[in-house]
Amino acid sequence: MSGVAVVIEDNAHNGYLSRFLLEQRGYTVELAADGRAGIALVQQMLPDVILLDIQLPEMDGYAVARALRDLDDVRGIPIIAVTSYAMMGDRQRCLDAGCSGYIEKPIDPDTFADQIDAIRTAAGQRGES
Ligand code: MN
Repeated sequence: MSGVAVVIEDNAHNGYLSRFLLEQRGYTVELAADGRAGIALVQQMLPDVILLDIQLPEMDGYAVARALRDLDDVRGIPIIAVTSYAMMGDRQRCLDAGCSGYIEKPIDPDTFADQIDAIRTAAGQRGES
């Protein structure tokens, strides 16, 4: 799978690594460093997949996911939470906010793109995209 990916991530290293791994997989990548910029970018690009950091300044990833799911054009686009929050319940919190799946940080370069494909495939089979 490839296409256009919007990555919403405030950490420069994680943004760089995500871009590198996705481009290696054939994606075109657009990066935003905060939630509001990310929402604007998603509305502009209508990407094939959204990668969403949960720990973001001002507007956290849960709020960003909920805002994206309120937009008609965005409703069918898979949102993948990427977060270092390790506590139980965070996965469910991401799903409740409208995310299609969840990848744990630190990003594993060997599996990152495959995890994205698996979540996109599962979301498609559920009819979400
Ligand atoms: Mn962050």
